Amino acid sequence: MSNASDTHRTNPLLDAPEDRPCLLLVDDQAINIQTMYQIFHNDHEVFMATSGTQALEFCQNKQPDLILLDVIMPDLDGYEVCRQLKQDPLTQDIPVIFVTAQDNPTDEEKGLDAGAVDFISKPVNPKVVRARVRTHLTLKRQSDLLRSLAFVDGLTGVANRRNFDETLASEWRRSLRSGQTLSLIILDIDFFKRYNDHYGHQAGDLCLRAVANALRKCINRSHDLVARYGGEEFVCILPETPLSGAETMAHEMELAVRQLGIAHARSDIADVVTISLGVASAPNPRDEGPEKLISTADNLLYAAKQAGRGQYKTGSVV
Ligand SMILES: [Mg+2]
Repeated sequence: MSNASDTHRTNPLLDAPEDRPCLLLVDDQAINIQTMYQIFHNDHEVFMATSGTQALEFCQNKQPDLILLDVIMPDLDGYEVCRQLKQDPLTQDIPVIFVTAQDNPTDEEKGLDAGAVDFISKPVNPKVVRARVRTHLTLKRQSDLLRSLAFVDGLTGVANRRNFDETLASEWRRSLRSGQTLSLIILDIDFFKRYNDHYGHQAGDLCLRAVANALRKCINRSHDLVARYGGEEFVCILPETPLSGAETMAHEMELAVRQLGIAHARSDIADVVTISLGVASAPNPRDEGPEKLISTADNLLYAAKQAGRGQYKTGSVV
């Protein structure tokens, strides 16, 4: 993947291996697309569209990191394409740079009003267009990174509570549409207060991190989510998973944490850190929202603790 033009890429955010930025070139003239392709194909993944409609369709399937958009096109012009991209939550964060033969301030203003981040005039100067694209890709990566950090628990690196709340709400809506079972696991670390009192808060933090990591390793589908619910409590959202599948997951999680072998001298049930889990499924999700699923899982967690901890209890929302 290394080549001569890589030398100007000094920003570490852009240098992630296996991750070439994806560009979409939109122009109704094949020759213009060809020119741009020559400029970018070495260190970008380049896609092309020759009409506004084609560009919009492309973005519904795959969201490029940046779009270079011609203004004058026969069906939808660039302004309209840009406006439509900015109205759709799926595509609104993709930076758009207009590329146009016109270079009067009114047109530029119109482009920026439509939501473009920049304006480049044709014929393009390869150095200028490369530099502008690089700048906007960097800004895009940085804002993506900031957005993602706002959804991560700082101590453990798994999803935070806000991320959990939003994901559960959207997965609930998705299961309402699909009729598929949504499952939820709520768990917490057994005798964690005693652990903190005995080993200190720093050890407590390390323990939380190790447990979070073990839980994260148990999930293997991209749409499953492990989150820190608060304190020593974690949750796991399992979309399109029947109770039996969620039970298997709970079993694996219980075992994975036990096998970490973190010494716990103050536990009544084992020499090592263990967890208790409540596993609930909603086979017939209804309009009222996921609260019942949460309270069911929470009650089952309580039952697992009552039954002696270091185990899980399962049930369905009726
Ligand atoms: Mg044109």
